[in-house]
Amino acid sequence: MKDFDLIVIGAGPGGYVAAIKAAKLGMKTAIVENIKVGGTCLNRGCIPAKAMIHAAGLYKEISHEGEIIGVYADNVRFDYGKIVEYKQDTSDELVKGVEALLEGNGVTRIDGTGKILPDKNVCVKDAEGNETVYSAENVLLATGSVPSTIPVPGIDLPGVLTSDGVFQLTEMPESLVIIGGGVIGVEFATVFADLGAKVTIVEALPRILQNMDKEISQNLKMILKKADVDIHTGAMVKRIEETEDGLTVFYEEKDKELSATGQYVICAAGRKPYTEGLFGEGVDIAMDGPHIDTDETKAFETNVKGVYAIGDIVPGIKLAHMASAQGIYCVEKMAARRNGDDCQPDINLKAIPACVYTDPEIAQVGMTEADAKEQGIDVKVGKFIMSANGKSLITHEERGFIKVVAKADTDEILGAQMMCARATDMISEFVTAIANEKTVQQLLKAVRPHPTYNEGITEALEDTIGESLHTIPRRRR
Ligand code: NAD
Repeated sequence: MKDFDLIVIGAGPGGYVAAIKAAKLGMKTAIVENIKVGGTCLNRGCIPAKAMIHAAGLYKEISHEGEIIGVYADNVRFDYGKIVEYKQDTSDELVKGVEALLEGNGVTRIDGTGKILPDKNVCVKDAEGNETVYSAENVLLATGSVPSTIPVPGIDLPGVLTSDGVFQLTEMPESLVIIGGGVIGVEFATVFADLGAKVTIVEALPRILQNMDKEISQNLKMILKKADVDIHTGAMVKRIEETEDGLTVFYEEKDKELSATGQYVICAAGRKPYTEGLFGEGVDIAMDGPHIDTDETKAFETNVKGVYAIGDIVPGIKLAHMASAQGIYCVEKMAARRNGDDCQPDINLKAIPACVYTDPEIAQVGMTEADAKEQGIDVKVGKFIMSANGKSLITHEERGFIKVVAKADTDEILGAQMMCARATDMISEFVTAIANEKTVQQLLKAVRPHPTYNEGITEALEDTIGESLHTIPRRRR
């Protein structure tokens, strides 16, 4: 008799969601965590970042936009310490919620660092160094990722921070150089530029948000520049030095050595899987580079039967909602197998939205037009410029758009890209469509309320198969 049906190592959005789901499916479940439940997402990632983005956005809106609509707030100011406190309170409240959910669903919490041993035993070392071994039918590894740094001189200087370090700052920085114009880089640039810091982004690739639709990258670059953010692309960081004015980042751009100086440097150059100390002696889990190799068709089982891995430690998309979806998929299959079934979980892991919380927000799912071209798929593309959307006009949104990519012969929706207010909420309409293989016409059956940003979706869909209503016909322009 084993101690548990399932032991999950790591209580981030992958692990804790899987543990709750497993318990709901009748499995005797334990979860091992050595910091706080909620993982990176709740404690050092999505939630604290979005709290800071909310605070900074509110400050910018009150200070810059009130006057345009006749709302005057004198002496608008912020207290950085209080913003940090609000960010922390938000995370803490969500952490408490997850703790209550684990307890309420009967999941056993084991505090300490987990290590997998042969025969699906798990050794947990607590804060005092005491070790206890638990046995399980199944083990799920969900230990997530940690920020990666770049191998350049000066990367260890005090004041060179990863995203974890940024959340620990208690005073507002005056100036920052951000290495990396990926998601973390542009989100921090938004926060600190909105609060009035001088921000420089140094990105090695030809454009910021290289994995997103090209038009989105170009628009965001313009918007950030308007907010006084200096952006250098095709710029490879070579070293960092302490200078009289702060920390100077030296980079190579078009064969020239250039530099940017800031009070702090943020290294936002990606994240790497966290598997340190996870494997005990005699455990031979197959790896795929730094990631754990799994078989998606076998619900993320590793080469060791009964040992699974999900989230940032496996190859593929590193996003909280992806980890949670993989967790649910994995335990649904696991529970079915225990009953002798081979169920096909309902969740569709192919339609995974990506969201960036800049101003305006950015969201995309499925294929871009460029992806389709690369794969030789014939597509139609529809687009609606949001400056013609009533709600966007009311709320004084930045210029933005909604784009739809559909299969040329069947009108099946293959992708959508959005850059506008509430894009991160609205993208779900396209996720539903893609996950269920819906066509443009099927989405157009729905009447969207007025006045909303969602009306822009109707218009972009109409443009995909003809012409949107709120545009002047092309032939008459
Ligand atoms: P990223 O991979 O998105 O971007 C890192 C960038 O750093 C890349 O564009 C890369 O070219 C650049 N870079 C690397 N080395 C460099 C060098 N020497 N000089 C200049 N530039 C260099 O990684 P990230 O932004 O750190 O984010 C990490 C992970 O966290 C990603 O998987 C991301 O999707 C996830 N995340 C998601 C959200 C969200 O969903 N809103 C928010 C934050 C992070």
